[in-house]
Amino acid sequence: MKSKIWLSSPHMGNMEQVFVKEAFDTNWIAPLGPHVNGFEADLQGFTGAGHAAALSSGTAALHLALIMLGVKAGDEVICQSFTFSASANPIVYQGAMPVFVDSEKETWNMCPVALEEAIRDRMDKGKKPAAIIAVHLYGMPAKMDEIGAVAKKYDIPVIEDAAEALGSHIKGKMCGTFGKLNILSFNGNKIITTSGGGALVSEDGELIAKARFLATQARDNAPHYQHSHIGYNYRMSNVVAAIGRGQMVVLNDRVAARRANYDRYVRLFGEINAKGYHIELLPEPEGFFSNRWLTTVTIDPEKNMGIIREDVRLALEAENIESRPLWKPMHLQPVFADAPFYGDGTSERLFDQGLCLPSGSNLVEDDWQRIEAELLQLFV
Ligand SMILES: *Cc1c(COP(=O)(O)O)cnc(C)c1O
Repeated sequence: MKSKIWLSSPHMGNMEQVFVKEAFDTNWIAPLGPHVNGFEADLQGFTGAGHAAALSSGTAALHLALIMLGVKAGDEVICQSFTFSASANPIVYQGAMPVFVDSEKETWNMCPVALEEAIRDRMDKGKKPAAIIAVHLYGMPAKMDEIGAVAKKYDIPVIEDAAEALGSHIKGKMCGTFGKLNILSFNGNKIITTSGGGALVSEDGELIAKARFLATQARDNAPHYQHSHIGYNYRMSNVVAAIGRGQMVVLNDRVAARRANYDRYVRLFGEINAKGYHIELLPEPEGFFSNRWLTTVTIDPEKNMGIIREDVRLALEAENIESRPLWKPMHLQPVFADAPFYGDGTSERLFDQGLCLPSGSNLVEDDWQRIEAELLQLFV
């Protein structure tokens, strides 16, 4: 059996183990310490965000964001439907109800028109949404100017789920700095990883200070253990943060490598499309910069001689090459069957026709030759 080519696997640099050893040498083996502070400073420096709190996961960061915006049982929260379930689950942790909004075709992220339609209809039905969760899927920034304008018009706070978009930006303004509270993830397959981890990012220092307080069991300032709030155990460990500091050293290289992957797929599918196929990639709109976390294609069988997405996925799998359908929209998930949805079928079509291709920053020439040979053979 040939070695497995992963969709996106961890890619360590030279400094991660140095920082981890330092944590051991100084016995900072705790959910606080100099690497946690250092990693937060690195994230602020990289994104230009005013404040960052390193947490145990992106999901925990989203949960805290909702708590701090006062989202409570019975509220409604608008969420992009085309995303990973972790974008929506924390809404339900709070006893609130997700209201799902479809994507537009240029970035595959939240459609500002459908967003406004959803807000108006929810208000007509008697409830103003408490927050909006916009996602930058696969690294492509959402249309934050338009989404922000709608949010401002109705005075609803925006949470940016930038879990997949560290290093992406719109005209130089980094993803993670558009919303009132924004989240990052460092899970195992993200563009950089700490094995598991996340962060909450904001311009509002008071909110971030409060997030740190809630994330460390909400202990009041007293010699004994005194509590006037319900707390959480959501802080990042100093050992995990050590990995993060090492990964920050190579983040720009990782973005460059992933973008080079995209360019190589553009050339490959250019060659394939010249044979009469019509496989589509997702170009960047003017002013948009994607970290190209994953390269994705859509395969419309009507334009590709009947070849469907699954044909491609299974052919790659037979060669031990991992690929994956695009996210199944949340409004089609059994667990969210009762949630309202506003849209025109865009995300459903993307799910039907879309595929994520191997996109690791650690792909080697030998991997590429296997991927290219298999795809060129499938699209004869
Ligand atoms: C990975 C991911 C999350 C969750 O982050 P974790 O750190 O795994 O909890 C949330 N939203 C999106 C879009 C993600 O891709």
